[in-house]
Amino acid sequence: MSSDKYQDNHDKMNKVYPDRIYRDNLATIINWIDHDKLVTMKDNDVYYLDVDNHYVAPFYKKYELDIIDIGLSSLSMALDSVHKGKKLAAFHFPNVKVKIKEESNIQLSEIGTEYENKPTTFNSVILAVGRRQAYPVLGKFMCPECGDEETKSTDHTRKFKDLVCRACQFNKKKSTMVLVEGSMKSEFVQDIVIQEPIDEIKENQPVNMDAKLIDSDVGHSFMGQKKKITGVFRVEYDTKGKQKDIYMDILAIKDLDDVELVMPDECDLHQWMKEDETKLIDGLISSFAPHIFGYRNIKLALLLAVVSKRGRIHERRRGWVNALLVGDPGMAKSMLLEEVQKITQKSTFTTGKGSTAAGLTAGMVKQDNGTSILQAGTYPLSHRGVAIVDEFDKMNKDDMGIMHEVMEQGKVSRSVSGKNVSLPAMAVTLAAANPRFGNYDDGLTLMENIDLPTPILTRFDLIFLIKDKVDGIMDEKKADKVLEDFGIGSEEEKETYMNKKQLMAYLNYVNNIEVELTVGAQQKLKKIYEKLRNISKEKGTIPVTPRTLESLGRLTMSYAKLLFKTQADESDVAAVYDLYRESYHTFGKELEESGSQLTLMKSEKLNKDQQFTKAWKKCENDKQYVDEKDLYELLEMEYSWERKSSMNKFTQCYNSGLIRKCANGRYRWEE
Ligand SMILES: [Zn+2]
Repeated sequence: MSSDKYQDNHDKMNKVYPDRIYRDNLATIINWIDHDKLVTMKDNDVYYLDVDNHYVAPFYKKYELDIIDIGLSSLSMALDSVHKGKKLAAFHFPNVKVKIKEESNIQLSEIGTEYENKPTTFNSVILAVGRRQAYPVLGKFMCPECGDEETKSTDHTRKFKDLVCRACQFNKKKSTMVLVEGSMKSEFVQDIVIQEPIDEIKENQPVNMDAKLIDSDVGHSFMGQKKKITGVFRVEYDTKGKQKDIYMDILAIKDLDDVELVMPDECDLHQWMKEDETKLIDGLISSFAPHIFGYRNIKLALLLAVVSKRGRIHERRRGWVNALLVGDPGMAKSMLLEEVQKITQKSTFTTGKGSTAAGLTAGMVKQDNGTSILQAGTYPLSHRGVAIVDEFDKMNKDDMGIMHEVMEQGKVSRSVSGKNVSLPAMAVTLAAANPRFGNYDDGLTLMENIDLPTPILTRFDLIFLIKDKVDGIMDEKKADKVLEDFGIGSEEEKETYMNKKQLMAYLNYVNNIEVELTVGAQQKLKKIYEKLRNISKEKGTIPVTPRTLESLGRLTMSYAKLLFKTQADESDVAAVYDLYRESYHTFGKELEESGSQLTLMKSEKLNKDQQFTKAWKKCENDKQYVDEKDLYELLEMEYSWERKSSMNKFTQCYNSGLIRKCANGRYRWEE
């Protein structure tokens, strides 16, 4: 189509569709019609309009227009134009059909310069979102010389161009028109950074690209969201011929979260649902990381965490389960966590070593054009998913403070250029840590063995210790397993109850089940909690707090989910209590034996003042702020302080000016 024709269409569209974005999109569609194809087109042919289906969907919504009809009339116009009036389309091509080409997805990394100015559709994750800004769309211009007025619209570069006064030009004079004040109409625009989804990358590094959202799409995209995007690849035009940045003009954006989850096929589902409960649990455990021998309880714990609710149960209580694997180096813990990644669809894998607060939460990133925009870290990207952190103990201690918030509150807060930015990050945390001194020392407490602050440890619902036990039978079986992996010795590959994809589908399915605790389950949980509290009081060392009760509740609900139950009952509580006991058992502690040494978290011989200051120090975050609640909890756990005496001591210190209350509601110790 000639540019005149295009302009003509454009002008017509202006009248019919005053809303610019739709009008322009429509004009663009018409512009996409391939004129080489038109020359050879015959009647009865089908013309495949190369636009993305979801891109044209807004037309239905907004104007109740049929895109096929629009496409057909556009095609007719284009045919008229190609044949320059020699063949009237209405007469010569009455039976041509227009169809929308199937949505064809490509990958962000495949978009090269051959796609310049063409629409493409791809999946991406939103990595960063800039401020809302506006750009001019229309404006009235006036010539200062002759007073001629003209309304101009901006082109796709969002700039007014060609402002030379035509009337003056005609009279061989030169004049540039100026904008009439107050006549400009604007639209929102927002810079974002998009990235290839981790599960789709082919190279090691996911590809990033700057992109622009406009008009009604502005303000609805947030960091970490997965989106299907149709956009036009553009290169910024520069008269000086310098290298220029590339970006993506977004035409349409659609949520992908929870849309493309792998779900079980009906046959499988039907079979699982009628399966015997014990067999089902066994089947799930044995299908998870089948090449890693043993670790039955740990596998169950990880599965429970994966299906836990990645949201809130109540306003104040989190639904997600956090689990920590502590173990000697070289054990299966990292491998087990890697396996989790293979059976979950939204998960991120990071290592504590080298993770910064900005990398985990959000940080400012400078863009090529000089402006800085907020970029999401691991946790916001794992929102409603699973965040796997290997070498958790290697994390910078100053950055550890942010872990409190994210593990319990499910959000990350950062102060960015003076403003407090909060991002949702409700993610299951699955972490692995090495013992501080290389190997786990039974003579020391858990706290002494791992280099992690107590408030962080209490945010894990389950902690397992993986030790390299010298066990004859175990070793022999392990050896068999190794040989099997190499294809030596052993028979055919072990048949698992489910394959990886089935397991993923299963977990996705049950993850959506809403569970309630029955009255019986609640009573049983309460009894267990009281029992644990008594043991804790007796020995003064086991950390049993209301958090413990919450943990047991969460785990019970997850267990019921694994069995397709909407009501978690006493049997689920019992299974979870078994697992809880097993987690203690791995540390060589028994919950039932009253005579045993319960020194999982042992208190030191300190006087009350020393205990208070020590606890205070442990609760301080990187800016030396202390949360009152954290302090009470720690005092209770580590030194068995009653809440009342903690509060008394706190008030005493506050009144004597040792503690100062800060604007953020936290406290600081006055030196
Ligand atoms: Zn003029």
